[in-house]
Amino acid sequence: MNFDVIIIGGGAAGLMFAIEAGKRGRRVVVLEHAERLWKKILISGGGRCNFTNVGASAAHYVTSGSPHFCKSALARFTPNDFIALVEKHGIAYHEKKLGQLFCDFSSKQIVELLEAECAAAKVEIRLECRVVEVRKNARFEVETNLGMFTSDSVVIATGGLSFPKLGATDFGYRLAEKFDLKIVPRRAGLVPLTFAEKEQRFYAQLSGISLDVIATVPGATFRENILFTHRGVSGPAILQVSNYRKATDPIGLNLFPEKSAQQLLEKQRSEKKELTTVLSQWLPQRFVQAWCEQNFPSRPMNRFTPREVESIAARLHSWQIQPAGDEGYAKAEVTLGGIETNELSSKTMEARRVPGLFFVGEVVDMTGWLGGYNFQWAWASGCAAGGAV
Ligand SMILES: Cc1cc2nc3c(=O)[nH]c(=O)nc-3n(C[C@H](O)[C@H](O)[C@H](O)COP(=O)(O)OP(=O)(O)OC[C@H]3O[C@@H](n4cnc5c(N)ncnc54)[C@H](O)[C@@H]3O)c2cc1C
Repeated sequence: MNFDVIIIGGGAAGLMFAIEAGKRGRRVVVLEHAERLWKKILISGGGRCNFTNVGASAAHYVTSGSPHFCKSALARFTPNDFIALVEKHGIAYHEKKLGQLFCDFSSKQIVELLEAECAAAKVEIRLECRVVEVRKNARFEVETNLGMFTSDSVVIATGGLSFPKLGATDFGYRLAEKFDLKIVPRRAGLVPLTFAEKEQRFYAQLSGISLDVIATVPGATFRENILFTHRGVSGPAILQVSNYRKATDPIGLNLFPEKSAQQLLEKQRSEKKELTTVLSQWLPQRFVQAWCEQNFPSRPMNRFTPREVESIAARLHSWQIQPAGDEGYAKAEVTLGGIETNELSSKTMEARRVPGLFFVGEVVDMTGWLGGYNFQWAWASGCAAGGAV
């Protein structure tokens, strides 16, 4: 079982690597510990796989290392390159919003695309293959329950820790440690946030309400929807800020992202209508009731002073919430942190200090925003390394 390259992990990045290296005539084998491939792709994007984002650039990635690290790979395999593959396979797709491309029908079509490309590139795949040890002598030796594999190069594409029920493991990080490569501490990313128990009663009454907001934490602002859940907050706005938020940061929510609350309220300040009735013109009634009880008990508008109206408007534009934790890897779409980028070549993803050893995809300390950026990184980093072996 001698190969040019052994790829450990058969997800988006590993398979893109295998396709690229296979097309270049390399003999490649993918070792996957699960009983089948594609699990994450199948459930991604709510079953329609948000396979890329037309605007993907370095600005859409979070890393503790150099923000420039991803530029080379992203420039050499662009969203248009993946779109060309999608079109070549006749897959209908659409832009949902903000440059996010989804299949019209099913993520299964992306799986079929990758399967066809793997077959054309003569990629060999071994399922239920458990790697026991990786050694580097004259060649790499990968000892598994299916026997010993040897190769000139090994690619680690085992992903992050998110969604353990789909087969996530810490294998890639352990292997990096074994080869003395530095790792940025990991934490859940693109993850719903939770409130402390004493606050959960207040937020539980908002469960199911979705609002269009501008969410802000130090260093990041997103205009998206927030969704209140029975334990905390979720929705795109919250998942996005979760990538940037330090544990103690409050989140500022602008509940009037387009209008001036001050002007709207001022116009109705001489009226007898209750504050709750007035605010319910723009926000869901159930939210308004709870929000007013917590912030400004409702009374007729004409009984608020101009100063009070000013404070109400200011709070509507900057309501602070303070989640206490997050839902963890079980519900996180990605893992922040990972193999330090300065351990790797940004052109090839090869470990600078361990020639022949490559890391691609989510195992690297490079995490995208919500919206197709994480698959784009998986395709691009896989392709960069696949062109280098
Ligand atoms: C629910 C969900 C929905 C998502 N939706 C989107 C989306 O629509 N768009 C987007 O851009 N991103 C999405 N993401 C993120 C995206 O799926 C990942 O960033 C991307 O799959 C990472 O690719 P990867 O190849 O690095 O890792 P993965 O795709 O996670 O693949 C890793 C592979 O390695 C295997 N493996 C792990 N350990 C071992 C081991 N010890 N031995 C052998 N094999 C091993 C795993 O079984 C898996 O097959 C979503 C994530 C989740 C969890």
